Amino acid sequence: MIKHVLCFLVFLHAFHRTHGVEYSVTNKALSTPGGVAFRDKIGADYAKRTLDSATQFIWRVLQLNNPGDRKSVQKVSLFVDDMDGVAYTSNDQIHLSARYVGNYQGDVKREVSGVLYHEMVHVWQWNGNGGAPGGLIEGIADFVRLKANYAPSHWVKAGQGQKWDQGYDVTARFLDYCNTLKGGFVAQLNKLMRNGYSDQYFVQLLGKPVDQLWRDYKAKYGNTA
Ligand SMILES: [Zn+2]
Repeated sequence: MIKHVLCFLVFLHAFHRTHGVEYSVTNKALSTPGGVAFRDKIGADYAKRTLDSATQFIWRVLQLNNPGDRKSVQKVSLFVDDMDGVAYTSNDQIHLSARYVGNYQGDVKREVSGVLYHEMVHVWQWNGNGGAPGGLIEGIADFVRLKANYAPSHWVKAGQGQKWDQGYDVTARFLDYCNTLKGGFVAQLNKLMRNGYSDQYFVQLLGKPVDQLWRDYKAKYGNTA
């Protein structure tokens, strides 16, 4: 009997190690108004649940279905820091600006959820071994945020922007268009970016150079300027 219980515990442990990602939330700004706003309006428990749902969502949208498709990240840590800006991610550590949380006008819980989804994409996405354009990296992060219905109202509308790899909302809207041409396009692009990057990936997946796709996209929305 004891032997069976032990076996089960070993199984549980192994299961946890291969399927579970742990999350931690550390509020390092509790002595500031922004840190207090994070504690009172968002809270560590909600943040942890959001980090977990972000991971599940990203794995689904980017089709990272098997552990072998994914980076071997066991734990993601969120820090709420007294700093400028909005947030940044370094490997498996996400840093959120307490000042941004404290000064945000509007639904701060929704906004922070969107920011966490964006940052969590950086944890999981491939970057072409450092060779992918920064604007594409940011565009994929915002594409996932868009698909999660966490796009803020101030984002550009579809068809707006100057170039395809401008980044953030502009590139996210363009990738959304590309994704309508071929379902799962962004997931496949991300998979190709595991070991390197080339603009030719667009030709490979969609049959057209990325500059042509950008012109088609602008034309579709009557914005050929
Ligand atoms: Zn980013």
